[in-house]
This record gives sequence, C-alpha cells and structure tokens, in this order.
Amino acid sequence: MTQSSNDGNSNQRLHVLLIEDAPSDAEIEIAELRHGGFDVTADVVDTGDQVRTHLGKNSYDVILADYSLPNFRVMDTLDILREKNLSVPMILVTGALNSETAVECVKQGAVDYVLKDNVGRLVHCVRRALEDTRLRQERTRAQEQLALKVEELARSNCDLEQFAYVASHDLQEPLRMVAAYTQLLAERYRGKLDSTADRYIAYAVEGATRMQALLEDLLAFSRIGRNGVTPAPTDVNTAIEEVLRNLAFTLKEHSVTITCNPLPTILADRFQLVQLFQNLIGNAIKFRGKAAPSITISADKLGEEWVFSVFDNGIGIAAEHKEFIFKIFQRLHTRAEHPGNGVGLAICRKIVEHNGGRIWVESELGRGSNFRFTFPAANADRTGKKEDYDLSPQDLVSR
Ligand code: ADP
Repeated sequence: MTQSSNDGNSNQRLHVLLIEDAPSDAEIEIAELRHGGFDVTADVVDTGDQVRTHLGKNSYDVILADYSLPNFRVMDTLDILREKNLSVPMILVTGALNSETAVECVKQGAVDYVLKDNVGRLVHCVRRALEDTRLRQERTRAQEQLALKVEELARSNCDLEQFAYVASHDLQEPLRMVAAYTQLLAERYRGKLDSTADRYIAYAVEGATRMQALLEDLLAFSRIGRNGVTPAPTDVNTAIEEVLRNLAFTLKEHSVTITCNPLPTILADRFQLVQLFQNLIGNAIKFRGKAAPSITISADKLGEEWVFSVFDNGIGIAAEHKEFIFKIFQRLHTRAEHPGNGVGLAICRKIVEHNGGRIWVESELGRGSNFRFTFPAANADRTGKKEDYDLSPQDLVSR
C-alpha cells in the first residue's frame, strides 16, 4: 500500500518504509510527519518478504517499524539492510518496549525508538536520524575522497621516484663519456689553443664533474626504499662504530670530540642506519663553528619509540630554514663556503620516514644544532652499553 501527499509547498520530501500491521497506526504516523512539515510518501508493509522486496527496488529516507509484528521479527530488517549494503536509519515505533529491549535494539543498529502513545516525538526523531545519516554519508564520502587522494599521491610519488631513478641511472653513462672526453681535451690541449679555449674547457670539465656528483646523489636518494630491504635487529652502537671508522680521517683532522651515550638495538637496515648517522655527523663537522667540533649522540625511549639525537656545537640554523633544509637539493650556503649538493638531509628524512619515524632539527643560529629523529621501538630493544664513552680522534683511528 502506498500513501502520498504533495501539497505543492517546499516541505522536505520523505520516502518512508513503514513496517506496521495496524493501518490506523500507520495513518497516525504519516499524519504526524506531515504535520511536522514533511512531504511524505510511504510504503506500508508487514511481512519479511515485503520488506526485502521493497528495500530491493526502492530507496527510502527512513524506516519506521513496529517492534512486535506477528509474522516478522522486525530486527531482522537490520540484517536485510546490511545484506543489501544500505544505510537507511530505522526507528522503532512501538506500543510498549521495556528499557532493556530498547537498549538492545539500539545496540543492534536501530537509531531510536518512539512509543506509540508519545508519537509527538516522531518528527524530532526522524529529523535527527536524517541529520545523522547525512553527516555519516558526508564523512564516508570525505574518507573515500581522502583515500583516493592518498592513493593518487602514492602513485604519483611512485612515478616520480621511478622517473628520478631511471633518469639518474640512465644519464650516468652518457655523462661519463662527456666527462671523460672533456677531461681528455683539457689534458691534451691545455696551452695549445688560446687562453679562452683553456677556460672554456675547464668550465666544461667542472660542469660535467658537478653533474656526475649530483646524479650520484640523486641515485643514492632514489635507491632508498627501492631494494626492498628487510629491517633486522641492529645494534645502533655498532652502526656508530662503523660511521666513526668511515670518518676517522676527518675526525682526526678536525680534532672532533664524540660523546656517545648507550644506544639501543632497533629494527632497521644496517646500511641505511650507517648512512643516516654518517650524514648527520658529517654535517656536524662540515658546519662547525670556531671551536673544535663536539658531537653528542644519544637516544631516549618515549612511549613506543626511540628518539635519537645528534647534537653539535656548530654554526646552527635559523628558525625559518628548519623545514627547508630537509628538501632535496636545498642548501643554505654556496659550494665555495661549504661543499655539498643538498641531498644529505633529504636522504636522512627518507630513511627515517621509510622506517615509520620523523626527523626535525632544534637549533638557533650560532648556538649549535640538535638533529632529532624517531624510530619505532622494536621487540629487538635492549639497553645499550652501560657506560658512556668519550672517544678521542686517536681512539677512533685505532678502533
Ligand atoms: P649539504 O650538506 O650537501 O649542503 P644537506 O642536505 O646535508 O646538504 O644539508 C642541507 C643544509 O642544511 C646545509 O647546506 C646546511 O646549510 C644545513 N645544515 C645541515 N646540517 C647542519 C648542521 N649540523 N649545522 C648547521 N647547518 C646544517
């Protein structure tokens, strides 16, 4: 049975599935909704088959259901809704319902209930159910759009990384040829042509060499995360020892003091960990101040993560550059002041983020820098060496 009204004004349209076996009650509910300002069309049904058929072929704004029907367990409507992947709010409109049953029905998915002798609440309940449904649908739509955007972003990031990798990899070979032949030109014809030719050839050699260095860095950057490395329990103390061995000459040359507090074992790729600390320690030395470099390495466990710190007494970084320096090819100095391509910190960030962490710097210009980053605390955790140890450059060389 379908009932409808259209009084031509701008009342909100409402298509109702009314599960009710008493025609007079159905009439009252429809009248109440009309009275409350709805332009109602209603299908009135009272068996499970009818409910299933109507939900299959029509779309409803709301379901009003009498809790106790002789031929149908009304709460089964919720199963039919789930089966058909519909999110129509269902309100129980019922003669009597003890509070325990009412709570149970709401738990199962009915959005509200109205007693038949208090049918004046119906309009308010329906409006609230419609608003909740609208908000829920908006939230779902927003979440779906966000998920699509994230997917799109991941795809375009992947494409970009692929492009950067292929470009830096494939450009190396022709560039090697350009570099080799310009160097040959420089060696063979230096002083044999005029001085302008010598200068031009020197520029070409310098350009090719710089481009090779840039491509190598770009390739190193785009390799992170490509090789599907499987993180394994790695003792950070031994990774630091490796870094110090790699940097032994520089450490000695600049009389660097390293203070290394006990460090944990974390889940990481050892090669990446060495690369990360080596870039940070290398920078701490490169961007040293007037005093001999002094670097403190430590780790604190905060909740579920380790927060590592590489703290130096170097030239420091102004507040406005703290984000910028982590971007690839961005640097604050000319190559004449400090050599480099601006890739080191971008590599650090990529390694840290690939491992589910964050990296940032705390610093003031002229007052040293504290590079901090997090790693998830893994089951592999154990306390590092008990004693702090200070290393002189001599110690480091002999390690
Ligand atoms: P590069 O060292 O090749 O310049 P990085 O990505 O490692 O590239 O660093 C980017 C910039 O961040 C550097 O040019 C420098 O200005 C700044 N920076 C990095 N580490 C430090 C540090 N420890 N102290 C001061 N400035 C630093």
